[in-house]
Amino acid sequence: MELNNELEKLLIKNKDNKLAHSNLIITNNIDKCVSELTYVIKNILCSDTFSYECQKCNICHLIDEQSLMNFLIIEPDGMFIKKEQVDNLLDKFKLKPELVSKNIYIIKNAEKLTKFSGNPILKFIEDPLENTIGFLVTNNINAILPTIVSRCQITKVNYEEEQQTNLEIIDLANDFIYNIENNFDEILFFIKDNILIKEYAKQDYIALFNEIFDIYYNILLKKLNQQILDDKYSYLTSIKIAKVKTKLKVITDYLNRLNYNVDINLFLDSFAYEMRC
Ligand SMILES: [Zn+2]
Repeated sequence: MELNNELEKLLIKNKDNKLAHSNLIITNNIDKCVSELTYVIKNILCSDTFSYECQKCNICHLIDEQSLMNFLIIEPDGMFIKKEQVDNLLDKFKLKPELVSKNIYIIKNAEKLTKFSGNPILKFIEDPLENTIGFLVTNNINAILPTIVSRCQITKVNYEEEQQTNLEIIDLANDFIYNIENNFDEILFFIKDNILIKEYAKQDYIALFNEIFDIYYNILLKKLNQQILDDKYSYLTSIKIAKVKTKLKVITDYLNRLNYNVDINLFLDSFAYEMRC
């Protein structure tokens, strides 16, 4: 696996004992960055001589299984990172690490911290515990509390541009679904302020609707297999299978309509209404 240069530098800093307690990583590809960052963290915590494919040590194994107590990833639960999620992290990290040398956390999409969840993190950053390292990962530094930014070591991790639109579309699809399901009173504002404003081209709308389809389709599969939904979609836990199927039909119908000339404003509004089926 080839690691981004800037992330490689974090490893060197760690070897020299110069890795900061609190790191803010700005990237245009959060998922890729977090996955590479997990390698960095394995390298820091590995109890064996680390290699990228370390299969020998129990620590790396636990990290892969996401069951190492000393390594936590927080990501938005719905639209935001909630205070309970942060409290839970701080609570767990009060204990000194025993199995490994450090407690390490990642906050994925740190721009989704609210003032309620951001403040305890800020306090934690201002007064860090010994043996604790944090990585806040964001694609939007402007949305992070300036007091947090000023106390973090900043690293920029840029990946090739072409994926950016796709990732933006994926985020948008998730937010759109969240608003349809949970915040329907505000849906017309959401459409206006988050979608129409971007003046997307037709192929972007096709990508958006395909993404929305994929998300519901995966939820359908999980439901059919009686699997637990990802945390991100926990708000859909009680949705009925028949309902998901109806929604998939609506999405397919609207995807077809996108082949014709549509008034995108009316199109999105009526799509949202039909998705309330
Ligand atoms: Zn290992």
